[in-house]
Amino acid sequence: MNLQTKVGEVNRSLKTYSKRLEKLEIFTLRDLLYHLPSRYEDYSLISKIGELQEGELVTVQGKITKLSNTYTRSRKTIQKIKIEDDTGSLDLTWFNQPFIIKNFNEGDVLSISGRVELFARKPTIISPEYEVFTGSTLHTGRIIPIYPETRGVSSKWLRKQIFLILEQFFIQDYLPPRIIRDHKLWELEKSIKLIHFPENLEQPLDARRRLAFDEVFLLQVAAFQRKKDWKEAKIGPKLLIKDQDLKEFKESLPFNLTKSQDQAIEDILTDFSKQQPMNRLLQGDVGSGKTIVAAAGIYASFLNNYQSAIMAPTEILAEQHFQTLSKFLSPFGIEIGLVTSSNKLEKAKKYDVIVGTHALVAKSVNFIKLGFIIIDEQQRFGVSQRGILREKGEDPHLLTMTATPIPRTIALTLYGELDVSYLIEMPKGRKIIKTWLVPNSKRDGAYDWIKKEIKVNKSQIFVICPFIEQSENMQTVKAATIEFEKLQTEIFPDLSLGMLHGKLKSREKEQILTSFRKKEFDILVATPVVEVGIDIPNATIMVIEGSERFGLAQLHQLRGRVGRGEKQSYCLLFTEATQEQSILRLKAMETMSQGAALSEFDLKMRGPGDLFGTRQSGSRMLKIASFSDTDLLDEAKRAAIGIFPKLSSSPELKREIDQLMTSVVNPD
Ligand code: ADP
Ligand code: MG
Repeated sequence: MNLQTKVGEVNRSLKTYSKRLEKLEIFTLRDLLYHLPSRYEDYSLISKIGELQEGELVTVQGKITKLSNTYTRSRKTIQKIKIEDDTGSLDLTWFNQPFIIKNFNEGDVLSISGRVELFARKPTIISPEYEVFTGSTLHTGRIIPIYPETRGVSSKWLRKQIFLILEQFFIQDYLPPRIIRDHKLWELEKSIKLIHFPENLEQPLDARRRLAFDEVFLLQVAAFQRKKDWKEAKIGPKLLIKDQDLKEFKESLPFNLTKSQDQAIEDILTDFSKQQPMNRLLQGDVGSGKTIVAAAGIYASFLNNYQSAIMAPTEILAEQHFQTLSKFLSPFGIEIGLVTSSNKLEKAKKYDVIVGTHALVAKSVNFIKLGFIIIDEQQRFGVSQRGILREKGEDPHLLTMTATPIPRTIALTLYGELDVSYLIEMPKGRKIIKTWLVPNSKRDGAYDWIKKEIKVNKSQIFVICPFIEQSENMQTVKAATIEFEKLQTEIFPDLSLGMLHGKLKSREKEQILTSFRKKEFDILVATPVVEVGIDIPNATIMVIEGSERFGLAQLHQLRGRVGRGEKQSYCLLFTEATQEQSILRLKAMETMSQGAALSEFDLKMRGPGDLFGTRQSGSRMLKIASFSDTDLLDEAKRAAIGIFPKLSSSPELKREIDQLMTSVVNPD
């Protein structure tokens, strides 16, 4: 038996429960032991019945003198057990749990824990924790762990299983003793034991620190390892470009590139000229001009007789890339293809670059000489999709692009194997989008202002409905439909409205967007799923409902849908939230116009959970550590730098890293 052993193979109880445990993402023994308490209940105060105080959280031990089961008029049941010790007697009460009476007999000695209440001046405890007292206790008489539960898997059951396993199973430490010493960490076994069964409430903090350290440290070392593997094993296509050709490309553009665009292009071309294939992340705020940077790489690849592929997360975005690239690259004779679920490639034709959605990974899409792959909004794709695409060439260069403003510290840990280029400035002439948080009391005024903007300035408006569920489902669509109808009939009866949501067919979506672009209607009501990819220069007002449900980075993305043309643009955030914290958080949108700053701020305000939006990647990679714990991140990183690449002197550590790398290092 080791940590990788499937829970179903450990013992009979675990086998019977293994299906249910999957709901808690517990598959192996390790998952079980790392299923950490969400909180503790301190039942360590043991008292005599005669000394009980109202309100006290206590443990009492006594002999059962009476058991009863009564029915109420509403056909519910009440179970009562009376226990006594040498100082008095105590009533215990449960509701609708008839099995409790069946489990015990008069004369049994129980150990129970709970909060003391007074009824008719007599002490009683309602729904206490309980167990037969055999001299030692597990569920009472100590600090007990409370776990995340699921249907049919209680904390009590988990507590018992974890306790039994910890009794018979030795957990081998894998950190080199020097790291444990230098960073004042607890040993692994001690940490796991005491995080489940602490003797005081300080111990879980130290235990958690060790486990959090491990989590970041291992990710970090694994990232170093991936970087090393990438550099050693592969030989990429050598793509060279003459200065004159690059100059020609730049001069063909209708604008001057920003400094950071120039720098990013240089980074890419330098990587292209090396032995190893590039593995680079291009991070740049919405509208910072990432596409043209990618286009420069495609052009270089074309000049070397290599093909390129660019994969986008949505059909709308793929089409947009197709149009942009056609505009900038066709003049050089570059043939561009588009592949989505509704657009097929011409069989016989040889394309220099193929733009597509995940339809690109299909078997039917083939390349002769694929030299350069670009993945847009990379966190939306799985590792496997990326892998399949890479297999279509021989170690092609890889550029991933993201607008998700990942703070640098986090990027280093999550994507430590990548080289990163940042687009830190916006193209010249962009106006800041004026943003207001609108309290409900000013909603009517806001609607009046919107009407005026539409009438006088011919503006077009987006209205984004709030998240209902994490992934878009019928409930979200329904909420959007209700909002649409309300706006159409009650608020803007004289205006024309359209509606867009993720459940529409892509052809329908495209039609709606085209007609909105042609100004055939004034207001587009949409679900958040359409956040990426819509580019309508005449739309200048973004209204977001239920804004408190979004991460700031995401609000910023949505806001980026306007402000694309010459006109001044606006973003109105509606919210139901009244808490000071929420208001403060949303207020930041009024003053901060950079995605990276907003995301750092959000990280401080509410932790990293929503940094990437509710469902998106990254946040789930860390279960124990928090990305906001920068001291720990620094320490783990220092330790990783200290030991890498000399892993062979610590075989246990090496095995742990190998396991991590072969298991799911898939951040999606
Ligand atoms: P994103 O980084 O969000 O993908 P895009 O690549 O779509 O941004 O660029 C946004 C818009 O800005 C496009 O219309 C593009 O042509 C334009 N653009 C890109 N770079 C510049 C620049 N240096 N100056 C002016 N406009 C630019
Ligand atoms: Mg883009």
